[in-house]
Amino acid sequence: MINKSIPERLAGNVYEIDEEESHIDINQELARSTGSGKVLVKVCPAHVYSEKADGSIGVEYAACLECGTCLAVAAPGVLTWHYPRSGFGVTFREG
Ligand code: SF4
Repeated sequence: MINKSIPERLAGNVYEIDEEESHIDINQELARSTGSGKVLVKVCPAHVYSEKADGSIGVEYAACLECGTCLAVAAPGVLTWHYPRSGFGVTFREG
């Protein structure tokens, strides 16, 4: 077995990006009032979430690994998340 770092393994992923529909929506008001926005920025392994200068949370859904971590940590109602439509999303090449 060849030892590879996590970034090396992730570099092999292939993404089919749905340009018409995001599979993640965020309620900015709830993200701010519950503190979930800052938590999302910290926990997402793909850096999908970012804090903007105005305090809102940016969502770059194209990089999503579909791991579900954000759903586990966000307060109820902060996220609307579903898997990408058929034919879109990430394909893992390394396990
Ligand atoms: Fe990030 Fe995982 Fe949530 Fe996708 S499912 S946005 S990779 S935490």
